[in-house]
Amino acid sequence: MLIDFAFVHCCEVALSEICGLERPDEENTIPVRMSEETNDKKGFEIWGEYSCLKDASSVKSFRPFISIYHLKIAEDSRKNGLEPGLVAQVVLIHEIAHYVTHLGKGDDGKIWKDFTSEAKGNKEGAAQAATWLYLRKHRKSDALYVFDCLTENAPAEYQGWKEWKNWKIEDPDSSSLEKDIESFRESLIKVSRLASKKDCREFEG
Ligand SMILES: [Zn+2]
Repeated sequence: MLIDFAFVHCCEVALSEICGLERPDEENTIPVRMSEETNDKKGFEIWGEYSCLKDASSVKSFRPFISIYHLKIAEDSRKNGLEPGLVAQVVLIHEIAHYVTHLGKGDDGKIWKDFTSEAKGNKEGAAQAATWLYLRKHRKSDALYVFDCLTENAPAEYQGWKEWKNWKIEDPDSSSLEKDIESFRESLIKVSRLASKKDCREFEG
């Protein structure tokens, strides 16, 4: 399985627009590594993970990256009759959405750091909502079907975003898309304001 870095870059830009946040580092695309590891976590973290951990050996004190667990994706895709390439794409979009909501800049030009210490349900909710809106915006109906299948069996933290607003969940092609994106941004600001104000940028999800 190959990573298409042009896709990663385009996806970062598109998700930044959907979330109403700019990425702080416009030069580079977040590193993505294919991993053969497996873990016993729950939800999308079985298939992929976004991490931003302290790194003493680096000039930058925080090192964001994404891992895609491709063996587990292949195994679970086979079991559920899904196309592994589409599953990998949906998982990658979800992880990039974490990066954008964790490290984006808000309207005030400051790094969006308050979101990092938020409850898991809200962080996963933001990633899920952004992924769903991205797939809808780009009319990726096959990937939307895969997203629904993956979400259906995921824990409650991955489902709660549906309650944030009265979006037209049943109608992916609805003309209300721009309005739904607006509502999502409002929800994102509300949940981020609930978070503690301490400067904590370390993150996994
Ligand atoms: Zn996640």
